[in-house]
Amino acid sequence: MDDLLIRGGHLIDGTGAPGRESDLSVHAGRIAAVERRSARPARRVIDARGLVVAPGLIDIHTHSDFTLPLNPRAESKIRQGVTLEVVGNCGFSAAPALPGRAPVLREYLASSAPWLPFAETSFADYVTGFPPTSVNVILQVGHHTLRIMTAGMEARPVTADELATMERLLAEALAAGAWGLSSGLFTAPGCYADAAEIHALARVLRRHGAAYASHIRDEANHVDAAVAEAIAVAEATGVHVQIAHLKLSGVDNWGGAARVLDTIASARRRGLPVDCDAYPYDTATNPLRNLLPRFVMDGGIPAMLERLQRRDVRDRIRGEIARQGLTNFGRIPSWDVVRVAVSPHLPQEAGRTLGAIARRRDVDPLDAVCDFIVADRGETRILITSMSDEDVHQIVAAPFVTIGSDGHALATSGVTGQRKPHPRYYGTHARLLGPYVREPGLLTLPAAIHKTTGAAAPALGLRHRGGLREGAAADVTVFDPARIAERGTYDEPHQYAVGVSTVVVNGEVAIDGGDHTGALAGRVLRRQAERAA
Ligand SMILES: [Zn+2]
Repeated sequence: MDDLLIRGGHLIDGTGAPGRESDLSVHAGRIAAVERRSARPARRVIDARGLVVAPGLIDIHTHSDFTLPLNPRAESKIRQGVTLEVVGNCGFSAAPALPGRAPVLREYLASSAPWLPFAETSFADYVTGFPPTSVNVILQVGHHTLRIMTAGMEARPVTADELATMERLLAEALAAGAWGLSSGLFTAPGCYADAAEIHALARVLRRHGAAYASHIRDEANHVDAAVAEAIAVAEATGVHVQIAHLKLSGVDNWGGAARVLDTIASARRRGLPVDCDAYPYDTATNPLRNLLPRFVMDGGIPAMLERLQRRDVRDRIRGEIARQGLTNFGRIPSWDVVRVAVSPHLPQEAGRTLGAIARRRDVDPLDAVCDFIVADRGETRILITSMSDEDVHQIVAAPFVTIGSDGHALATSGVTGQRKPHPRYYGTHARLLGPYVREPGLLTLPAAIHKTTGAAAPALGLRHRGGLREGAAADVTVFDPARIAERGTYDEPHQYAVGVSTVVVNGEVAIDGGDHTGALAGRVLRRQAERAA
């Protein structure tokens, strides 16, 4: 007898093919049958008439390693139909945290993971100790973290010894089950790495059959060079490269989506293993300090806080911003497009723009920014509206682009339900399958589902997920295509998406009638085991 029969739904299998009426049977964590009208007996039958039955969604780029230990039910994600999160992105990972270095890592990650307790840990212990969660998880090791464990926050190339240590830590993490390495070359200390350092680490990935994901060096005025740098890693080492949250930031760079997409498409046509993902929003989120020139963070957070109080440093920053706009984000019309999301030490300011804060204090905006960073000990996280809608639509709609929320799994109650984080943490996939499909001419529903299932799985090298076919892992989502939508807004982000009625993870029902069952059937997927299975 099967565990589950999902009957009468409109089945969209993730390949991009049109949907068809079909039943779906689940047995022992696997999809046992996909057939027009099933006569197989099952312990539980779910009526899916009028609903879409799709593979569980793959959120290919997230930072939920910072919240899953606090919110193992992965509420904001699973309620959109997400069944797999790829974490440890943009160079940030909570492990390895070597003796003596854990406090620096905690301080460094405070603006991204304000509530996460930090402890000394090897990557192997981190994998073993990762809590049971409602979603499956793919862990990556972060390049920033490896650098903090060796050269610290110093603005310089690593020595041969330090590089050897980074290679060893990477190899240990990969052997322990890390899927690959992520980098965040846009900010310190990852930005101090040259191509040779990244290629050396990529050769370690190559030996382990592992992959590389990169928040590239620049997403604004130098985005073309940064995309080329990522593609060069695939070309030089043969390692799969995932370009994270592709975007064109800064008004001077708007309109460049077609050009950048064409560069990536032509690399793919040359046979290079390159993929990219995006989120469907014109607004980014980042630590406030990352908008300033890179020299600001040389030596770490305490050095930065001391430096930002000096008038000559502020004048230098002002000059650089006047010349080329914000680091990573390019030119913005004003500080009114930058709003405080999370501020551990000035929580009352969440939701206000830096422009408004400067006017209230009657100071120059750049002084308001520096004062804010100092008062908040460098931990401020902001939202910045720096992209054009046209570029975002064009990138998300491009056939080979997959979808990542770049966000944490949050819950509306509890410690993760505070402040004003980006609404994409609650809404990315619901926005993709709802408004993006319902808007004429953008995406068909099978194409949208394909991006976050059938296209995402091969980009990760996953063979048994991302599709509804016999033998595949039973990760399934059932939703109402007319109703699926995000509810969160920039002012009220902590609201669950609507329209998803059933979510199955590894054969267990995690969302039932729209409510969370409490099931924690997700697993850490280890590269070796998934490839061998
Ligand atoms: Zn990133």
